[in-house]
Amino acid sequence: MTELLQADIKGPNDQASDEMWHAIDADRVLTGLATSRGGLSTEEAKRRLQSYGPNALPEPPRRSAILRFLSQFNNTLIYFLLAAAVAAAFLGHQIDAAVIVAVVTINAIVGYIQEDKAEKALAAIKKMISPRAHAWRDGHRVVLPAEELVPGDVVMIEAGDRVPADLRLTRARGLLIDEAMLTGESVASEKHDQPAAVDVPLGDRLCMGFSGTLVSAGQGFGVVVATGARTEIGRISTMIQGVEQLATPLLAQINKFGERFTWVAISAAAAIFAFATLVRDYAWADALIAVVALAVGVVPEGLPAVITITLAIGVQRMAKRNAIIRRLPAVETLGATSVICSDKTGTLTRNEMTARRIVTADHTILVSGSGYVPKGDLTVDGKDNPEAVSSAMQLVRSALLCNDAQLRPVDGHYVVDGDPMEGALVALAIKAGLDPDTERAAWKRSDEIPFDAQHRFMATRHATDSGAQVIFVKGAPERLLAMCATQVGPGGALHPIDQEFWTAQIARAAAEGERVLGFALRSPARPSDQLGFADLDEGLAFMGLVGFIDPPRDEVIQAIAECRSAGIVVKMITGDHAATAEAIARQLNLTDHPDVVTGADLDRTPDSGFVELARRTDVFARTNPEHKLRIVQALQSTGAVVAMTGDGVNDAPALKQADVGISMGHKGTETAKEASQVVLLDDNFVSIVAAVQEGRTVYDNIRKVIAWTIPTNGGEVLTVIVAILFGFTMPMTPVQILWINLILTVTLGLVLAFEPPEPGVMKRPPRPAHAPLLSRFLVWRIFFVSFLFTVGALAIFFFALGKGLSLDTARTMVVNVLVVFEIFYLFNVRYLHTSSISLRGALGTMPVLAALVVVIAAQLAFTYAPFMHSLFATTPISLVDGAVVIGAGVVLMIVLELEKLVMRKIGALRSLEP
Ligand code: ATP
Repeated sequence: MTELLQADIKGPNDQASDEMWHAIDADRVLTGLATSRGGLSTEEAKRRLQSYGPNALPEPPRRSAILRFLSQFNNTLIYFLLAAAVAAAFLGHQIDAAVIVAVVTINAIVGYIQEDKAEKALAAIKKMISPRAHAWRDGHRVVLPAEELVPGDVVMIEAGDRVPADLRLTRARGLLIDEAMLTGESVASEKHDQPAAVDVPLGDRLCMGFSGTLVSAGQGFGVVVATGARTEIGRISTMIQGVEQLATPLLAQINKFGERFTWVAISAAAAIFAFATLVRDYAWADALIAVVALAVGVVPEGLPAVITITLAIGVQRMAKRNAIIRRLPAVETLGATSVICSDKTGTLTRNEMTARRIVTADHTILVSGSGYVPKGDLTVDGKDNPEAVSSAMQLVRSALLCNDAQLRPVDGHYVVDGDPMEGALVALAIKAGLDPDTERAAWKRSDEIPFDAQHRFMATRHATDSGAQVIFVKGAPERLLAMCATQVGPGGALHPIDQEFWTAQIARAAAEGERVLGFALRSPARPSDQLGFADLDEGLAFMGLVGFIDPPRDEVIQAIAECRSAGIVVKMITGDHAATAEAIARQLNLTDHPDVVTGADLDRTPDSGFVELARRTDVFARTNPEHKLRIVQALQSTGAVVAMTGDGVNDAPALKQADVGISMGHKGTETAKEASQVVLLDDNFVSIVAAVQEGRTVYDNIRKVIAWTIPTNGGEVLTVIVAILFGFTMPMTPVQILWINLILTVTLGLVLAFEPPEPGVMKRPPRPAHAPLLSRFLVWRIFFVSFLFTVGALAIFFFALGKGLSLDTARTMVVNVLVVFEIFYLFNVRYLHTSSISLRGALGTMPVLAALVVVIAAQLAFTYAPFMHSLFATTPISLVDGAVVIGAGVVLMIVLELEKLVMRKIGALRSLEP
């Protein structure tokens, strides 16, 4: 073993020594890794980070660029176009065939670039929620990115965490770790800190925590023995979850639609081919060309790429507003959210706690000061009262010792490492004159029962050098009252507990919005240094209460008002006391008269009445995670689209069940984050509302993209069909149609992906969950605009021919008029819900203007550049004819705005909307 330790000191990550850590005593592991229970120094950690590299698994290789490019062609629509190109080549129209192939290729390149950009953006966004670890550096507890851990670091893990590296546990309290991913064992293993035999398999190394496994309960401390690829998981496989595929139900729906559409189009093309050759006596080659034109016209080539980019932009915008999308479908669902169930602490409130009052059996002491600055006075009725303070001293000591938080001064203010409420208790103890280090050294902690939202208390056991022992408990006051038969009275004497007195005191503090915590103690019944639930069974004496203020976040009040105007119901689900929750709900103006029920009320409610209760309740207090699951299910059964927040290890089922599960970036556990679709970087309710607004915008924009793209295709196809039906020359050639489709979708169509929210986007009610993407209004719109486009194109065509212009010139004018129509229609479609004729509407956004410049330049080249003439059979058009084309666009704009106005005036827009 001595040689082993020698080897350890030289290289803790060496293969030979890695495998042995479980067989060595914890203290010797610490020595072997040249570290201590107080952790490494920052300097040393930096040095080790350089030699061992970051604690991360190598990225899995991406699909090769060529494969990703080729997959762009793997689409029925594209096959269809390629078949059209073959047909054209076969008929001797080589230039047309080449143009079709070129256009398809350009389309694939654009698609590839966009998809690549979107994937990279998503990957970068995912990095923003990379896991963190609680470690000790320079003797202080710090939170750092798990990537920065090095062998020798001492870390803490607790329920809900993912073990950040391979650890040799130095201490484990009720620690259960789910190692299924590593060992296949589905039952969580109970960990301890005692060494195991050298040759036991991984699953039996109970003093080890393995990187990537999940802590399902308890708390533990350990020293990092291996990081990155050297960990057990790193050795088994270096695969980690790759970038999520860019797929959402909507996109899948559109792709499926595209596929079905293609088959319909092929059948229709065959029918038209038959009609043209049999009825109209077209030469079959001409008929085939007409059908190719039709096929090309009907296929919205650029649509899938534009929709993908719209979604990706939505994800980026949400990230900028602190909502990180972990699963893409959430982007769509967020926009349809009709109920947001939010927890209170930290999401609706600031989670900046300050202890404001201490209540003992004989005194109420008020505490001054704000934030975590440990400066303030303890007074009774505005006066110093040393006797009262000294009677509360044992309570304050328990608050300091039954506590895992540390206060750290940073640039003149204080930050808490650990739970904010516990940080506030440390500040309180200092204000009361206790020195944390001295107290912790005098009353060494030998064991603890960590806090858990299920049992709502935390307990610690302490001993002094002289052998005195005590158990401190702090937790939800009603919970503690139920556990205590006695209370500490004046002079420290024990009296029977006065439940009524305490209940009144709790209600008084809670009614002012204070969060109340109870404190109790006992001297242990058995001589041991361990602590179990049985030790709390009898003999606990209640010491008193501490009330904290945790002010609501100012910006949340505004966000809740916004939700109310947007028809979104906000419900608070909290573990806190009913009166505290109600007071905060009133301060936030959650509803006019908040309806409050407690977890106990919910338990008493039979299934039959539960849905109605869940629907009408605004505030759910003293709930546990199981209640959340029931509430989500009940609300969903009423047809609501439910967004639910959660942070604890037990919140995962509710987060998964919710339509949008939202977890907290700061205080959330890894388990909760992994179960959720959205992670809030700032834990703030406002970010949820921002994400909903962006979700609505994305959905609007996708509808706009479709509403704008399809009439182009519709107009082209109708024009071709009319030409065949009436047996006149095609007003456009296939490649000209392709030119319009392509140049427009990748410029103007893309612009719609960048559209900012429409005014009043949060003044509309949420869209119903199963509303079709295209409302009846939009379907009408698509037909109406297609019709106008056809009329416009034919009118210009015959106007040109009537003037005696050549067929090529007439066709050039038709292409130009369709492009001009699309430009005007774009301005119209940018505002589906209001008029587009406004300064705001006319000026457009930067992307709109940039795209306009590109389209106009491309169109000028198409009309006037000689090489375009040979490719597309175009000719220059005169200034006057150009003016006619633009004039037609203006007429179209006026007609469309009139239609929008009429629709709005007769209220039809509203009833035709989904
Ligand atoms: P929310 O669910 O809105 O975040 P919450 O923070 O009050 O509210 P929990 O964390 O489930 O919900 O806590 C429930 C109760 O448990 C708290 O009201 C408090 O009384 C008690 N409690 C919370 N944290 C601790 C702790 N660290 N030690 C002891 N008791 C605690």
